[in-house]
Amino acid sequence: MTTSTPFSADPRVSTIGQGTWYMGEDPAQRAAEVAALQHGIELGMTLVDTAEMYAEGGAEEVVGQAIAGRRDQVFLVSKVYPHNASQRGVPTACERSLKRLDTDCIDLYLLHWRGQYPLEETVEAFERLREQGKIRHWGVSNFDLADLHELDNTNCATNQVLYNPAERGIEFDLLPWSQAQGLATMAYCPLAQAGRLLRHPVLAQVAERHGVTAAQVCLAWVTREPGVIAIPKAVNPMHVRLNAAAQGLVLAEQDLLAIDAAFPAPTRKQRLAMV
Ligand code: NDP
Repeated sequence: MTTSTPFSADPRVSTIGQGTWYMGEDPAQRAAEVAALQHGIELGMTLVDTAEMYAEGGAEEVVGQAIAGRRDQVFLVSKVYPHNASQRGVPTACERSLKRLDTDCIDLYLLHWRGQYPLEETVEAFERLREQGKIRHWGVSNFDLADLHELDNTNCATNQVLYNPAERGIEFDLLPWSQAQGLATMAYCPLAQAGRLLRHPVLAQVAERHGVTAAQVCLAWVTREPGVIAIPKAVNPMHVRLNAAAQGLVLAEQDLLAIDAAFPAPTRKQRLAMV
């Protein structure tokens, strides 16, 4: 079963994309970050996620450098700070992002999280940018179901939220609702930031059965759900290759049951997890 989302038909929307948080902070790392993103694009991870927040624009500059000469191959996602999400703030923030990204259009522009401005005001500003061709789609991030009900706008294309085997809260209500609405879910921290989740023995066992790594199991697990896109961040070239290779990994029923036993699915509403 596949969920039809506003992006289903766009071949640049890879099920596994690339995150960029913490890129652009250290000039000594810049060449490696640019190379990692370019390598990832070549290997089919053509959705690239960034935000004006990351390194205060530094990550967008890294992305701009990485996509130079290959802009048309990439589905570019960026995010506006809540404190810029006003009628006047959105277009000026977007202009700054476009300049740093060295492009004339962002494919998907997200409100990074809910802030002080009324949602209608932000949405109106997004719609104006869409009319002007400066963004192709807009969406939100860190919105729980009640926020989406309040938003009540069918033009919202995505909700970007925390999702990995150790953080399954969205499966109770947010994910099924989003799937039914055709709203794409973008899973951030799909590797739980490479912490102890990747050393969990059950993930190691599943990985061993397939001859892959626990990180690859996490990516295959997150994207097993229709309409879910994972955006792992990787600078290490080996990580980039492994993440790209996870695009072809399909977990078996036995694997899913083992993961369910180790990381039970939610049986009641949980507060939306965020980092
Ligand atoms: P991730 O879960 O993607 O983990 C990133 C870490 O995993 C890095 O240390 C990376 O190392 C390591 N890693 C990458 N691939 C592998 C691999 N195959 N094996 C082992 N380790 C690996 O965390 P992020 O916080 O970066 O989340 C992903 C993206 O989601 C962000 O970069 C950002 O774009 C987005 N995001 C959005 C948020 C929001 O509020 N909307 C919040 C948080 C993230 P290395 O870099 O050395 O390769």
